[in-house]
Order: sequence, then structure tokens, then C-alpha cells
Amino acid sequence: MNKSLCFLIFLFAAQACKTVQDDKSTPMIRKDIHSYAEDAVIKQLILDLEADFENRVLKGSGTYQIETNGADYIVLDLRGPEIFTVLVDGEKADFKLGTEDPILGQALVIPVKPGSKTVSIFYQTRPDADALQWLSPQQTSGHQYPFLFSQGQAILTRTWIPIQDSPGIRFTYQATIRVPKELMAVMSARNVQVKNPDGIYRFTMLQPVPAYLMALAVGDLAFKATGARSGVYAEPSVLEKAAWEFGDTEAMIAAAEQLYGPYAWERYDLLVLPPSFPFGGMENPRLTFATPTVIAGDRSLVSLVAHELAHSWSGNLVTNADWNDFWINEGFTTYFERRIMEALYGREYSEMLASLALAELHRLVLEIGPQSKDSHLHLDLKGRNPDDGMNSIAYEKGYFFIRLLEEKIGRSRFDEFLKKYFSEHAFQTMNSERLLEYMKRHLPLDSLQINAEEWIYHPGIPANCPAPVSDRFDKVEQAYRQMAASQHWDTLLTSGWSSHEWVHFIAQVPDTVHPAQLKKMDQAYRFSESGNGEILDIWFEKAIRGGYSPEILERIEDFLVHIGRRKYLMPLYKAFKATGQIETARRIFNRARPNYHSVSANSVEQLLKE
Ligand SMILES: [Zn+2]
Repeated sequence: MNKSLCFLIFLFAAQACKTVQDDKSTPMIRKDIHSYAEDAVIKQLILDLEADFENRVLKGSGTYQIETNGADYIVLDLRGPEIFTVLVDGEKADFKLGTEDPILGQALVIPVKPGSKTVSIFYQTRPDADALQWLSPQQTSGHQYPFLFSQGQAILTRTWIPIQDSPGIRFTYQATIRVPKELMAVMSARNVQVKNPDGIYRFTMLQPVPAYLMALAVGDLAFKATGARSGVYAEPSVLEKAAWEFGDTEAMIAAAEQLYGPYAWERYDLLVLPPSFPFGGMENPRLTFATPTVIAGDRSLVSLVAHELAHSWSGNLVTNADWNDFWINEGFTTYFERRIMEALYGREYSEMLASLALAELHRLVLEIGPQSKDSHLHLDLKGRNPDDGMNSIAYEKGYFFIRLLEEKIGRSRFDEFLKKYFSEHAFQTMNSERLLEYMKRHLPLDSLQINAEEWIYHPGIPANCPAPVSDRFDKVEQAYRQMAASQHWDTLLTSGWSSHEWVHFIAQVPDTVHPAQLKKMDQAYRFSESGNGEILDIWFEKAIRGGYSPEILERIEDFLVHIGRRKYLMPLYKAFKATGQIETARRIFNRARPNYHSVSANSVEQLLKE
């Protein structure tokens, strides 16, 4: 390792005025502020890594087929991995590392010749690599074997692979992953369905993907089919329940194809991770990574599968050019998710989901402030970790914007538009500016008074935001009012409710409620013992804010220690903080931290130190 300051100063000065061409067939897109990559780009990656569970490192090499585009160096993103040797076209080469930025990491600069074809990098990850979570056997469902998984989005892939970590740069990949013989490795690629006795797994991803969609998991896994081109990977103790819960996957694929054209990735499988997985799901192509908290036993939370499946079009096929336009991935996907849910379970059901979403959107805008720039769809994440700026705005404000388009334009015409949009931009990137231009060319935005600019570039919720209609929720509100007035928590009135109705019911409870009232409700409906994460989460939040939490603290603590899903953690830690119980929050966090992935741990830590 050596550094040449002059060379780097020249490099970074040159970088400021350069652009990267995301794809030959698409116009130039401004350079990604979260990547050091320049003109020379990776086209294919061949990864060869061994998973060393004892030392919690991955070690081996990456070999990159490159296109120099006339440049005499190639720049990769790196944060953490130790580089041993670099070869260019098989010859040992010099390399330089830029100054370490706490968010972006370092630029790895490798001199090449304009005609150079391959670069090989021999390296090893660090035990604390942010993308990777190494779990002890106690942290898994089976308690017998360790587990490893990666989470690349937004800019964490550079902590386990030296890579051009920008959504605008796509490459195909092959990988050989060596793991202990009793474990199985899976990736966002073509996977086997049974363990290999030698512990060596080979993967191919034929469709070009951006770095954030590179994903690896290693554990005691088994596979069960849920249809002709779908199935579930999970630890054996979870497999049967998971396969039942996701039994509608094949029907979801069919519904999605009906709406937006052929599925481009051959198979759609799900991997159920241990509870520490920080997100609901991650749309790693061909193999969605999912939290076990969606296995509620009644298929009530499978909109998550519809969501991750929808990313096979919006996000994985047409990708946000950089993280400022994260809403282009998530807004379309959330809209698409609810269309799939409507196709499978009916409009009444999908309208309940949309109503919950609108409530969440209003709550969030209130929390971050109606003038906050973080409530724009198009974000300004310069100098920030993209992960910090990502909240429900991209999903739900994005959803209501797309839904508004559908309502104004008419469903069948809008569906035609979307089909065309996805097929014309497949395997390309998109940003707000180009999307708006494209929409204006194909849709009468101005005459329909959509106010698209206001939706994309202004804060808050525009006045023309669509309003979901849910009779079932109206009944829930009525029932709540009636029972709160009489203090008689009737179980007859609530029979046959779905978990969404229960969540909406609990949402009616004001923060000013008396702890004794909460206790009565808990006795009547046993919320604290629910097997549904959505119900538990909102109930525990109400309990903390309403002063009832000391009576059920053990349960709340158990939930926070065993579940690492950030969406569930943050409202509870925030509630502790808001009610002067920060010491309780800190104590629980200290206990829970080893079970959290860095994505969740960093968010909670940030909250509790403020
Ligand atoms: Zn998503």
C-alpha cells in the first residue's frame, strides 16, 4: 500500500468535472456523488472467496473484466478490505488508496493501459465489515451453526468487495464461495437447491446488476419449492412455516407479469434470514432476502413479498441513477406492490394497506417537519450517508404520486404507459429529471394538473394527494370510539378482524391514554402476546408512550433484543427517549446490540446519543 498525494489531488480535481456514461444507449447522467468511479468501468466480476467463520473474514480475490473507455486508470470504491496484491492483465501492478472518507471510504486507484482487459485484486475483509453480519449459533433459529449474510444497499458492498459501488454501473458476475462443509452458500444469482458435500458453491449472474444487488448468505439452509419457478431457502426449523406463508408467491409472479410484462430473472426465490436482518426484505435479484418477522402464520404480512417481487421491474430492471432518486426505485415498487395485492386479495384489502400508508406518511412529515428537504422525493444527499436520508417518503409519497397519475390518467392507459416505460428502460438507470421529461412526452401531465414538479422537488404532501377509501377501517374507528367511551373492550365487535384492522385499531389510541386503560385492552385482546410483529410494534409504542410499559417491560425488551428489523426498533427507542426513559433504552440497546446488523445498530446509536 502506498499513497501518492499529488497523483490523487490531480485525480480528484479531475473527477469533479467528469461524468460517467451509465449505458451506451442512454444519455449521460451526472456522476454519482457516493462513488469514486470514473470513466473506466467494470463489465464482469469473477469472485473467489472463502468464508472463515472463526476469524469472521472473507478472503480471496476478485477478477474484473474492464472497459477503460480511454482512461489510464480505473477507480474502485473501498471501505475496509485489506488489499494484498493487484494484477493488471496478469502482471503485478501498483495501486494507490485515497484519503479515507468516513462515509464513502477510499478510492482504490489502479493504473491501466487504454487497452487493458482485466484487473485482479487479492484481498480480505475486516471482521467488522459493515455489510456483513456474522452470527453465532445462538443467534440463529437452529442454535447449532453460525450464519453469515450481507446487506449491500445503499453503499455497503464496498465493505466486502472492492467494487464500483454506484447504481449506475452494472456488471455480470460469477462467484466461487468456499464454506464449512455443513453449511450452504446462496447468492443473488443462480443457486443450487441442496448442500454440496465439499462446501464449494459456484454462482452465475447472467443479467448485469449494480453493486448494491450483490448478496451472499451462508448458513444451515434447506430449500422447498413453492411453485414451478419459486421457492424458499431457510433454516430447517423455519422451512415448513416459511413455505406455507409464502404459498402465494407463484400467483404473485403471474399477477405481476400480467401487469408489467415478462419476469426477466428466470427464478424468484426467497431466503428467510435470522431475526437480526435489518430490513423487511431486500430485493436481491433472483433471491429476495427476507426478515422472519413476516412469518405471522396467517399470510397477513406477505405484501412484503409482493414488494420485493415488484422490485424485479422497478429497481432491479430500471434503477435509480444515484441515491438522490431512491424514490424511483421505491415509489414505483410500492405502487406496484399494492396492485399485486389488489389482484390477489381484492381492492378492499389493498385499500387498507394504502390507508395505513397514508397515516404513516402524515406521521413522518409531521416528525421531520413539513418544510424538511428530506420530504422531497428528489433528495440532496451530498455529504451524507444515503442510508440517513432514506425514510418512508420515497416509498409512500412516491406511491401516492404514482397513484395520482393512475387516477388522473385512467388505469388502462396508465398501465400501458408503465409497460412501455419498463420495457424501454430495462437494465438502464433513471433519475427524476429524465423521468419527468419522459412522462411529459407520453402523458398529458400539465392539462391534468398533476403538479409533478411540486411532488418531486417540493416538501410535504401536496394538496392533490389521493385519499384511499376503506370501509373496513371506518368500522374499526367506529368500534374504537364506542368501546373507548364505554370502557367495555368487546371481543364480539372485533371478531374476524385482520392484523391490519388491529393495527389501525391500536393506532386510534391517543398518547394521553391512562395506563389502566391500556392494561384493560391488553387483558381483553392480548396484544403483548401477539405473534404478529406489526401489532406488537405499534402496541409496544403505545404502551411506552402511555406509561404502561413498566408492566410489560420484559416483553418489550425481549422483542428489542431478538428482532433487528430497523422499522420495528426505531419507534420503540424513540418512544423511550421521548418519555424520559433514555437510560432504559440505552440499557436495552447495550444488551441487544450484538444481535443487530450495522444498519440498525448505527441508526439506534445515533438516536440515543443525541
Ligand atoms: Zn423496496
